[in-house]
Amino acid sequence: MNALKDKLLRLIRAHGPISVAQYMQIALTDPENGYYMRRDPLGRDFITAPEVSQLFGEMIGLFFLQVWEDRRRPRKVQLAELGPGRGTLMADMLRAAKIRPAFLEALSISLIETSPALRAVQAKTLSDFPVAWRSGVHEVPEESAFFLVANEFFDALPVHQFVRGERGWHERMIGAEGDALVFRAALDPVPGHFVPLSVRDAPEGSIYETSPSSQAIVQEIARRVGDNGAALIIDYGHVEPGLGDTLQAVKANAYADVLAEPGEADLTCHVDFAALGKAASEAQGHVFGPEPQGAFLEALGIKLRAERLKKTSRDQARDIDAALDRLTNPRQMGMLFKVLGIFDDGSRGVPGFSCGS
Ligand code: SAH
Repeated sequence: MNALKDKLLRLIRAHGPISVAQYMQIALTDPENGYYMRRDPLGRDFITAPEVSQLFGEMIGLFFLQVWEDRRRPRKVQLAELGPGRGTLMADMLRAAKIRPAFLEALSISLIETSPALRAVQAKTLSDFPVAWRSGVHEVPEESAFFLVANEFFDALPVHQFVRGERGWHERMIGAEGDALVFRAALDPVPGHFVPLSVRDAPEGSIYETSPSSQAIVQEIARRVGDNGAALIIDYGHVEPGLGDTLQAVKANAYADVLAEPGEADLTCHVDFAALGKAASEAQGHVFGPEPQGAFLEALGIKLRAERLKKTSRDQARDIDAALDRLTNPRQMGMLFKVLGIFDDGSRGVPGFSCGS
């Protein structure tokens, strides 16, 4: 049996069932055997937008350059990234930013990364730049401006699930049956206010998800952005608050059983953009979007950039077209992936967004 499953079974036998949020956290970030802690899963189990093409990171880099110009070029900027993976997004952003050397000089870079294995990969990718690793947004030093980007970070944060039963809503837990991990609802219902009014009367068997840790991080970001800056949260998820179990496991580019091999498969949930936007607004952030990724990248000029790139790398023209399609086509990543913008002040220009929310 895998070591992490054994550890979880022992924990559950000793202390009782654990929440889905606890399970996600342990499966992904257990110091010894958590999914992200020992290996670089990118490309092997799943692929993300920065790994599809340099066009993605370049557009994000130009976005922040524009934000910097709109704020009259603050002298010192903290540029932070949450969950930087291989460091590819940051490297592409910085390459695009080179067109304005004064911008590059203003930047200090903070990478918020939990995985030692991925920190090592990031150090290699970004070896030309001075970067500092931090364990959370709170550790990022205060400068005259704060910029942050997070791509496919929030989908990895722990989510609590609640199941509608006969007597109310019960937290969905994970217990042990012999050597198997199994879902089961907690015996006692939770207090009514755990589940929003809009879904409280849903039919029996319905599942409601919420991610308090995501909301706490977004509020921290909104407060930091409030001084002078902007943040982009890019992920797959839903715009309307809704019901349903979105927890999924992915291994080797295919869906896997969520409970079968903890630590061996990636676990994610759809990001609830409505909840993130609401949390950011409560912390005085000016929220824009969520904008579909395709529309956002097109508004920033990705098509033009792709044409230019094709001229300098003629032999790669087909690959560039394919990558552009993958990033922007609504049937591929263009619609499912969305971009939430959190700004200090909506009146100072919000490149890429068609409207506020
Ligand atoms: N942004 C990258 C990687 C996405 S995978 C890309 O688009 O390619 C998720 C990333 O978040 C990984 O770097 C993972 O190690 C990191 N991560 C997951 N949970 C985290 C946590 N709780 N704190 C900090 N980083 C975390």
